[in-house]
Amino acid sequence: MPTAADLDSAIRDVPDFPKPGILFKDITPILGDPELFKSSLELLAKTAGNTKIDKVVGIDARGFIFAAGVAQILGAGFVPVRKKGKLPWTTHQMAYSLEYGEDVVEIHADAVKPGEKILLVDDLLATGGTAAAAIKLLKALDSDIVGVSFLIELTALKGRDVLGHSQIHSILSY
Ligand code: AMP
Repeated sequence: MPTAADLDSAIRDVPDFPKPGILFKDITPILGDPELFKSSLELLAKTAGNTKIDKVVGIDARGFIFAAGVAQILGAGFVPVRKKGKLPWTTHQMAYSLEYGEDVVEIHADAVKPGEKILLVDDLLATGGTAAAAIKLLKALDSDIVGVSFLIELTALKGRDVLGHSQIHSILSY
């Protein structure tokens, strides 16, 4: 099975995307290789430890790709946290700050039951604003967030400090 080092080699660094000064971590080479993709899902699934997870929650949009696969491995359901206006049913909403302005994430009000054990998954932890908003939504639904797991963490941005959770895992740190 490919290792984290193999995943690291596959990630493509794209300078100045989507704007000057950002070094974009392109994970599509991992997705395009069945063995690397499978390995990324298995490494993320392992972060749940021995806890039986009820729902894996993925964050719009690349988080969906990983969270859905992890949910299948763990025998758990998958729940999307989406950008505003995409979910058709009754939602809970949470606003969060961007560099300029504000954005909103939503979850279906009935997607998670009180006490359900959750693994929150996204592709990348940068400033942590998006994941922090997802955590607030899940807490508002009284769920039990067992862990918060990322394929990639950009450690210099100290995103984990804003998440306020004791079980934050990343497969690759930069
Ligand atoms: P943040 O809320 O700052 O932690 O940003 C997290 C989201 O933005 C993640 O879901 C990533 O998909 C995306 N993102 C932020 N920075 C990068 C980066 N350097 N490369 C790739 N994706 C990024």
